[in-house]
Amino acid sequence: MAERLQQGRPDRKILRRVLSTDVPGEIEVIRRAAEKTLLEHCGDTVRLRGLIEFSNRCTSDCHYCGIRRSNRAPTRYTLRQDEIVETARWCAGQGYGSVVLQSGERRDARFVRFVADTVRAIKVTTQSDALPQGVGITLCVGEQSPETYAEWFAAGAHRYLLRMETSSPRLFAALHPAGQRYDSRIDCLRTLKAIGYRVGTGVMIGLPGQTLDNLVDDLFFFRDIGADMIGMGPYIPLAEAVLSGAILDVPTRFGLALRMIAATRLLLPSINIAATTALQTLAPDGREQGLRYGANVIMPQATPLKYRRDYALYDGKPCLDDSAGQCASCLESRITSVGRRILRNAWGDPAAVRPPG
Ligand code: SAM
Repeated sequence: MAERLQQGRPDRKILRRVLSTDVPGEIEVIRRAAEKTLLEHCGDTVRLRGLIEFSNRCTSDCHYCGIRRSNRAPTRYTLRQDEIVETARWCAGQGYGSVVLQSGERRDARFVRFVADTVRAIKVTTQSDALPQGVGITLCVGEQSPETYAEWFAAGAHRYLLRMETSSPRLFAALHPAGQRYDSRIDCLRTLKAIGYRVGTGVMIGLPGQTLDNLVDDLFFFRDIGADMIGMGPYIPLAEAVLSGAILDVPTRFGLALRMIAATRLLLPSINIAATTALQTLAPDGREQGLRYGANVIMPQATPLKYRRDYALYDGKPCLDDSAGQCASCLESRITSVGRRILRNAWGDPAAVRPPG
């Protein structure tokens, strides 16, 4: 196994083996190979993006998601622009270098303008000697028209995170209502690339009905779409979820999510990969484990405390009661505990990725 992982880019067969093995010795060989690849291609720094969940209002109805339109449990909120800008300024002061503005999905003109104005305001407010162009801004606001994506790019957002959730059209259809189409998600990713965004995408791991071959397909999809960043994590059920079906137990799902990170790092050595909050939901040291398996991005929670509980995508989401300051200090020790260091006051992008062919 070790030799085959060292011999250039892994093929389908070896990636399937990476995902399927439950042999502890083999898992450690995979982990080490992924960590070595990361250190050689990206160095030992961890890039931070302060996560601002600015609204849970959503017009979509994804079966797996706690903020979907038809779920009556959360109290709906949208942060005021000055609250978002102040939070971004706080992130910049912490040396985070980048923020992610994430919300439910809305496409009305008022929302589009609100996001554009907020991006512009953050850019101006966060400029400093350390960050002459202000913080890097990632948007994660779902499917939008090409015009909207272009407007937000012109306003100053330079990254966009849109998970395709799965590269299987059959599984995608099972996860979403009929009006939400796989093809339109993929079109959005292509449009974002064409506009010039650094594009992040990703999948949920351990979904009901998902096979190992689906996950191997996802890996090659990441390569073929030219993803600059991957953010993926285990699927975590929600009491009010519409999605049903058997899922893997927690240790199996967690281990599979870690090996999916390793497989992505081995296939795509230079891209950014996030150790996501969903990993930390399944294990207290989940994000550190993600770093050990080849991830190099963490999104520290920065959403103002009073809104956190209502951005409940799934059950057991961590850090609901920790202030952003507590999240910041806990993070530093978590990152150093696995022999890595924080990249401060920098956007932390890899070289842009062009889709092959
Ligand atoms: N609305 C935007 C979108 O769809 O891209 C951004 C917000 S959406 C809530 C962010 C991500 O949360 C989704 O892409 C999905 O992968 C993840 N998510 C939602 N429900 C989840 C669950 N039950 N388990 C794990 N991840 C989940």
